[in-house]
Amino acid sequence: MSLSLLPELWRLNKQQWASREQLETIRLAKLRRQVWRAWEYSPFSRERFEKAGFHPDQLESMEDLRGIPLLTRTDYIAAGEKAYCSDVDIEQCVWAKSSGSSGSPVRIPLTRRDKQHRVLKELRALLANGYRFTDKMMIIWVPRAFVDSRPMLHRLGLLRRRYATVFAPEPDQLAGISAYNPEVLYTYTSNFRILAEEILSGRREAPKPRILITSAELLDSGTRQLITKAFAVEPIDFYGSMEVGWIAWQCQERGAYHVNSDCVIVECLRDGEPVGPGEDGEFVITNLHSDAAPLIRYATGDTGRLTDEKCSCGRTLPLLAVLSGRMADYFVLPDGKRLSPYAVTSVLRDVPGMRRFQVVQEAELAIKVNVQATPQAPDAETVRKAVQRALSPAVSVDVEYMESLPREASGKFKIVKSMVAMDPTEAAEKVA
Ligand SMILES: [Zn+2]
Repeated sequence: MSLSLLPELWRLNKQQWASREQLETIRLAKLRRQVWRAWEYSPFSRERFEKAGFHPDQLESMEDLRGIPLLTRTDYIAAGEKAYCSDVDIEQCVWAKSSGSSGSPVRIPLTRRDKQHRVLKELRALLANGYRFTDKMMIIWVPRAFVDSRPMLHRLGLLRRRYATVFAPEPDQLAGISAYNPEVLYTYTSNFRILAEEILSGRREAPKPRILITSAELLDSGTRQLITKAFAVEPIDFYGSMEVGWIAWQCQERGAYHVNSDCVIVECLRDGEPVGPGEDGEFVITNLHSDAAPLIRYATGDTGRLTDEKCSCGRTLPLLAVLSGRMADYFVLPDGKRLSPYAVTSVLRDVPGMRRFQVVQEAELAIKVNVQATPQAPDAETVRKAVQRALSPAVSVDVEYMESLPREASGKFKIVKSMVAMDPTEAAEKVA
């Protein structure tokens, strides 16, 4: 971020209040540019378009985007360099990398512009939530994602950020937060939950950030309440993906999520067909700012629903009503249907004495519950029975006690985890 980007930030800020017609005009112009770029410079994209009989000239309205087939993660990875634009010096790009927790890792090259645009999108969402340029922000994340500092702006006391590793034990994380005393704290939802538990256990005093941003995992109402209780501030949830950056975010109303629809197109599909507002489907995204590697109609595997309701804040950016599942979180059952594991976790939270646990689908019909061993921990039979009630009798349930529950290589602590992987597009056809 440099000061030269301020006019662009001002424009983005203004766009969140634009009329629907203005937004559509902006989106269509950006989409045309992306599709033409993909056609001209990305051999993989052109091949995909040609196979489907699509030519960028056909793009007259947003609906025409459907002439382009869905792009799966697997196909994108297999395409390798052919997916990148030949007019971009890939050596000069920075890389966004996924942890691969939901299958193979994906790498997306970003030009300087691509990256700047991600920062601007983030700033717009932060500013909508009361962020000030002089605020200090602390990000507790996986070290891989840390970015270089901004010494010039820092010296001016602007956009100050500090990164800390999510792999540090909770007491150390809390001590680090208290020492830096940030106005904004941003970490994985699951990590917030663990920090909240630590605070509520009475062992640590709560730090006092003004804004809490949760992300990367579903924020269920129980977790929201727990974090609010521990920090005395209600968190704001952001939804994004490594592939495109921020997709949607909550404003201070903390209701449905405003989609960055002037920067990314979100389609909600079921069996490949668009569903109406308020209906569940899979999110398919098109990034309108990806000059190095076009990402057009990319199947995220995340599910939820869009709505045509309006937010009381008055912003016109359309709303994503519910995020019901993130691909990595689902359990796939033997008939191919997906089960939201939150059915299992909500049962476990009600078991007396339960502190921390993790539910792992080890095979299609085998669930293991890892329970943190504490003197108050419930006995194995109680845990097993509770879980079994939420599942079909055909599923076996195993309980194991552990001194401490393991984190992922990504740094997330997964409350639910499935070892039964599948391709997001294939999965989208089978949403239960
Ligand atoms: Zn709003």
